Amino acid sequence: MKPASFAYVRAASVPEATAALDRFGDEGKILAGGQSLLPLMNFRLARPEALIDIGDLRELAGLRAQPGQVSVGALTRHLDLERCGLDGPLGTLLRASAAHVGHLPIRTRGTFGGSVAHADPASEWCMLTTLLDGSVTAVSTAGKRQITARDFFETVFTTTLRPDELLTAVTLPLLGDTHRVAVVEFTRRAGDFAVVAVMVACTVQDGTLGEARVCLGGVADRPVRSLAAEAVLTGQPAGTEAFVAASDAAAAAVTPPSDIHGSAEYRRDLVRVLVRRALERMQP
Ligand SMILES: Cc1cc2nc3c(=O)[nH]c(=O)nc-3n(C[C@H](O)[C@H](O)[C@H](O)COP(=O)(O)OP(=O)(O)OC[C@H]3O[C@@H](n4cnc5c(N)ncnc54)[C@H](O)[C@@H]3O)c2cc1C
Repeated sequence: MKPASFAYVRAASVPEATAALDRFGDEGKILAGGQSLLPLMNFRLARPEALIDIGDLRELAGLRAQPGQVSVGALTRHLDLERCGLDGPLGTLLRASAAHVGHLPIRTRGTFGGSVAHADPASEWCMLTTLLDGSVTAVSTAGKRQITARDFFETVFTTTLRPDELLTAVTLPLLGDTHRVAVVEFTRRAGDFAVVAVMVACTVQDGTLGEARVCLGGVADRPVRSLAAEAVLTGQPAGTEAFVAASDAAAAAVTPPSDIHGSAEYRRDLVRVLVRRALERMQP
């Protein structure tokens, strides 16, 4: 399959990219890794008039440490995150999440920012941004704004990013020494998007669970925190009893969709199994 014809702009700077977005309006699309956009164009499910290639904007690639947080540049490739040397539980979570994204060639090209902008409900980076209440930086010719994860993901493949805005980074909080994290997924084939994915980040001190964060992917129109599971875990001894109760609570509280990959009931059961598994596998 071949895409419909389009104009091509290779941006040499962020202002050049935002100026081009301004010029083309709804008809201009940012090209990052191309791993989601180009298949859509090849199937003629997307027919942008212009592609604005940000591949040369090296300033948008990589991790930047800031006090208490890390900024992940939009153009950071999945593979860079799989190999990132960041210490501590956030580093563990970044590496473990990246390993679940597609296949190696996809991880070589695809970008963190592209995934967050694309907003697949089972995307690992959308889940991580939701799990940790990350903040999205969006830049346009009108200026810069920060959008919290809660206000960013609207529904399947839809965010509150405006057509004239370039996503430049996502800021995530650094996790402390008492944090324990895990990501587990169920996929039909290696490299596929997860049918259900679970990401957890909990503090554990003297064997007791403190702050608990549980994020579910593939069960709604966007990644969702399981507030039911989090409430069950907080303040409890970290162990089988709390983990089983939390996974039951998480499963009871979701109303997942049914599709060709699995019924709602099947997904709910996956939530029950995977939340428990993630909690049992938490590590620093
Ligand atoms: C077979 C296959 C399996 C996959 N499996 C997974 C998986 O398991 N998990 C997963 O998360 N992903 C998976 N993906 C998708 C992959 O991770 C993509 O890399 C990702 O979704 C999009 O990133 P990209 O850089 O390729 O973006 P592109 O394809 O270039 O762009 C995607 C969309 O985001 C917009 N966009 C991109 N960057 C920006 C920006 N900086 N600012 C504003 N808008 C922007 C584009 O205009 C476009 O609309 C899979 C893809 C394939 C083909």
